[in-house]
Amino acid sequence: MPPLHSKLPQVGTTIFTEMSLLAQRHQAVNLGQGFPDFEMSPVLIQHVHEAMQSGQNQYVHMCGLPTLRERIAEKVNRAYGFQVDPETEITITPGGTYALYTAITTLIQPGDEVIYFEPAYDSYVPNIEINGGIPVAIPLSFPHYSIDWNYVKARVTNRTKAILINTPHNPTGKLFSTADMEQLRNLAEEHDLWVISDEVYEHLVYDNQVHHSILADPILRKRSFACYSFGKVYHCTGWKTGYCIGPADMMREFRKVHQFLVFTCHGPTQHGLAEFLKDESAYLELGQFLQKKRDHFRKGMEQTPLKPLPSSGSYFQLYSFGEISAESEREFAIRLTEQAGVTAIPVSAFYQKPTDHQVLRFCFAKREDTLDEAIERLARFFNP
Ligand code: PMP
Ligand code: GLN
Repeated sequence: MPPLHSKLPQVGTTIFTEMSLLAQRHQAVNLGQGFPDFEMSPVLIQHVHEAMQSGQNQYVHMCGLPTLRERIAEKVNRAYGFQVDPETEITITPGGTYALYTAITTLIQPGDEVIYFEPAYDSYVPNIEINGGIPVAIPLSFPHYSIDWNYVKARVTNRTKAILINTPHNPTGKLFSTADMEQLRNLAEEHDLWVISDEVYEHLVYDNQVHHSILADPILRKRSFACYSFGKVYHCTGWKTGYCIGPADMMREFRKVHQFLVFTCHGPTQHGLAEFLKDESAYLELGQFLQKKRDHFRKGMEQTPLKPLPSSGSYFQLYSFGEISAESEREFAIRLTEQAGVTAIPVSAFYQKPTDHQVLRFCFAKREDTLDEAIERLARFFNP
């Protein structure tokens, strides 16, 4: 047999799987992997069920069910004031991760450099590397996780082809500001870069802040792919359905890749989503719904010596333990699972180079009783 050369020699099991397994083994409350433990809308389930029962069970259009793309176009127009063409500029994908992978595969040639920010969602680097691209990590400045745009500029070379952003940000909950968008626009224009924008948490924004989408910027959106996930919008991460938006010429190339990766996505889900999207309140109320959970969690966590860092979006709240332990994030996360019965994610897992600020990521997209159980266990652990 020929030797099997790994395309991703550095990659092992993801931290999410690792910590979820550890949580199961110790019957810990799992605030690690980001997924809701509350029920999704029974109405949406009913819509999908009806689509199956009424025989909508064959392949749908390669780019996604036309009515679903039309509904998405209406949503984008309402949210970002941009009249996107559902025919040529939207493709339905099996989740946000796939949308990102396909966007990167469409744009990146071997040797191209891609700028991204760390801590970073774990799929970005392997997605770049599998395409022969070179990931260029820019650290967000701890503890505010802000971007030093002068440093970003200094890292641009004549091989830089794209910049990958994520707002609202996993794992920090940080949002791009208007100033960040302006800096991004200047940089992308000056150096002629593609932009890949991971906006899966677009509606999970708190404290009356605003999500600045790449789609709301007429200049940036001409050179960008924006990636979304219905899993995050409708509490159904297991459905793995999302979409990508980009200008027609870029989307034409995206679809060539998409066509031979999956060709088309699960049909009944798309029928159900097209129907459910008519009701905009389901996603417009999301921010308020999750902010309540974040606030409830933060209030309860005051009983522990863990110190919250600012979080204005996403499913996640970071806590610093630097004042109470000299352990590494990984050691502390494992000890909390084993001894306190609560699982969180070490943020060091979101960096390529060893980086440890003694911070853990907790997912608060959980039922109140789950959060209360976690708080009680942590309070007992820290104040025996
Ligand atoms: N990007 C980020 C930042 C995420 O946290 C997630 C969550 N899993 C995704 C993309 C992927 O979403 P999906 O589950 O739809 O692939
Ligand atoms: N996005 C989720 C998180 O950050 C998990 C996704 C996954 O398990 N790959 O926790």
